[in-house]
Amino acid sequence: MLTNNLGYPRIGANRELKRACESFWAGKITLEELKKNGLQLREMNWKTQKDSGIDLIPSNDFSFYDQVLDLSLMLGVIPRRFRDLSDLDSMELYFAMARGYQKNGYDITALEMTKWFDTNYHYLVPEFVIDQQFRVGNSKVLQEFLEAKKLGIITKPVLVGPVTFLWLGKEKETEFNRMDLIDRLLPEYVAILKELEQAGAEWIQIDEPYLVTDIDEELKEVYKRVYAQLVRECPNLKILLTTYFDGLLDNTSLVLSLPVAGFHIDLVRAPEQLEAVLSVVASNTYLSLGVVDGRNIWKNNYKDSLALMKRAAEILPEERLMIASSCSLLHAPVDLETEREGSRLHPEVRTWLSFARQKLSELADLKLLFQSNEQGVIEIFKKNKEIHERRSSFLEAESGKNAFLAKLSLKDGYRDHPYSKRALLQKERLQLPLFPTTTIGSFPQTMEVRALRSEWKKGVLTNAEYEARMKSAIQSTITLQEEIGLDVLVHGEFERNDMVEYFGEMLNGFTFTSNGWVQSYGSRCVKPPIIYGEVSRSNAMTVAWSVYAASLTSKHVKGMLTGPVTILQWSFVRDDQPRNETCLEIAAAIREEVSDLEAAGIRIIQIDEPAIREGLPLRKGAQDHYLKWAVWAFRIASCGVSDATQIHTHMCYSDFNDIIEWIAEMDADVITIECSRSQMELLDAFANFQYPNEIGPGVYDIHSPRIPTKEEMVSLLSKAETYIPAERIWVNPDCGLKTRGWEETIAALKTMVEAAEVARQQVNQVV
Ligand code: GLN
Ligand code: ZN
Repeated sequence: MLTNNLGYPRIGANRELKRACESFWAGKITLEELKKNGLQLREMNWKTQKDSGIDLIPSNDFSFYDQVLDLSLMLGVIPRRFRDLSDLDSMELYFAMARGYQKNGYDITALEMTKWFDTNYHYLVPEFVIDQQFRVGNSKVLQEFLEAKKLGIITKPVLVGPVTFLWLGKEKETEFNRMDLIDRLLPEYVAILKELEQAGAEWIQIDEPYLVTDIDEELKEVYKRVYAQLVRECPNLKILLTTYFDGLLDNTSLVLSLPVAGFHIDLVRAPEQLEAVLSVVASNTYLSLGVVDGRNIWKNNYKDSLALMKRAAEILPEERLMIASSCSLLHAPVDLETEREGSRLHPEVRTWLSFARQKLSELADLKLLFQSNEQGVIEIFKKNKEIHERRSSFLEAESGKNAFLAKLSLKDGYRDHPYSKRALLQKERLQLPLFPTTTIGSFPQTMEVRALRSEWKKGVLTNAEYEARMKSAIQSTITLQEEIGLDVLVHGEFERNDMVEYFGEMLNGFTFTSNGWVQSYGSRCVKPPIIYGEVSRSNAMTVAWSVYAASLTSKHVKGMLTGPVTILQWSFVRDDQPRNETCLEIAAAIREEVSDLEAAGIRIIQIDEPAIREGLPLRKGAQDHYLKWAVWAFRIASCGVSDATQIHTHMCYSDFNDIIEWIAEMDADVITIECSRSQMELLDAFANFQYPNEIGPGVYDIHSPRIPTKEEMVSLLSKAETYIPAERIWVNPDCGLKTRGWEETIAALKTMVEAAEVARQQVNQVV
């Protein structure tokens, strides 16, 4: 039995890669130094894995920015707009494709970025044209294989497979089907594989996660052709065809019929697929059992994993089995050992956790447990069992106290009356003009605001000083909004470092790491909160800030909360109960906050759900179930108020067209959405579906410092009016303003208020 790791985090235990890249971009280190840093990280990672007892150690899982971009470059998939840069050093070209190039008179936009399947990792989208040529340019994968070989480690190079690679990309310039490019692409894969074969590679891991989605018959044929050819041309290389993030389901017999040496399956996301796979697997096939969760942080349960391994061993000989991480460990923080003294991590919870480096040892443990009955080995098992028992009893003692959830009923997810009736009451009470103007919540987070928060956390500022300074920031923001002439004001969210962390820190059931970083894209890393236990709220979280803001103005101040699905989606979630249960606990806590805001006189409350779309399962068949509970959680969070209180929600980052009916089911009185970058294209969904409530389609892009003209915004509003009646349109930016500077923010908002005024006049003229 071999231990097999699918990929290791490349950021380094202390985010060394981020520092190196950012220093290079800032001109502080040379390209040579950057490359040296990269090599050091790779060597360290290979040694760590070797020392931890991993047999199949990946290479080419390293990347300075993104592994899909590496592959694009390796295959010569370079969009035309970058051709002028072909004289640049290849690393400069690489970063230009990743980050855009605004130098020497050029203004070239970066490749688009999007989420890697259902993870929070973002890859750079390959761009294909109809006459796309592929040509192996650099041989990064070979070089890295040779680097490791020099250290005496024969690695298993990792490549995204050709079908998944095409699928991840986008057609550009003309309409065609990018999958038709496969015959041109395949010879290049063959060339790469042959090089690796000659260099002494024994195994190669080819990732085809596309195989866990709904694929049609035609593509199934493509898969057969592609893998038959790769195997035929490289008979001495063992291909491990790798899938993860879901089960093979109806693709099982197709996949298992492909003539490769072995398969990897994700038994964390889809343990039930083991039986189906075992029922068709040939006895000379290798099977890699992905039992150690690459996407979460909990210690493996050895008893459960061993059960799966033993079951597999009833069908396949032990030497054909591999024990593996469920997917690349890229999605897990690097090393629990870096949570040292002074870490914020809950000490008991710490004993339940396992980060990437610890997961390697788990793989080695599992192999040992499978193979040996020695006393020392049994001790390992016992210790693991004890930790799980302790975790259960600890959580047991804390749970089940939520009286509201205990007697939750259908009516808790409904307002007293439907929107049409509520709208009348709200209109009467709020007295807002046509095309009311507002913002999405945050105002610029300047250095000063950040410094305030960090000084307070360090204890340099007392509570009273901190509060006074925050209040003064709120006060000037309220005055400013009044001057600009906005209709519905916000307090500015200055107290928040992050829209999830802020709430997590105040809720029970959450803990935080000090160093548990995970790569989100390029040099950007996130540190997700850990939801370890029952979530509940002990104290109000935002009421004081909102009430203070409201006391300063006669205009309405909107309360500002993060929704349950987004809090769930951007955290590491406990794995001992279904996600929807955890989501409901968060929803109940947010509901209490909503009620407190209402009781304190706040008449408009926004509950942001930007992450609702990204939780959508990869398989169509599972999507309705998810959407149902996600929408229900939002409703539980938002429906505890009277009809006259207006509930807003906000969404961004994604395409909602395919889930628009579910968004309507959320029944928020007003939804503000990101729209301006797509020139209101997003509103196409509303052409076929009559969205019943109010909408604020973002009229300007906050991701850019550019200040749009009044005319642009007016024209976007007119466009919106072709889909939505004027009485139900709000006017607002695309998203929160926290990343912007004050000057551009003020200018843009003033223009936006003028645009709303023009829109009002135009409507009055028609009347
Ligand atoms: N209310 C949040 C803000 O304005 C919303 C952020 C988001 O949509 N990601 O910052
Ligand atoms: Zn947003």
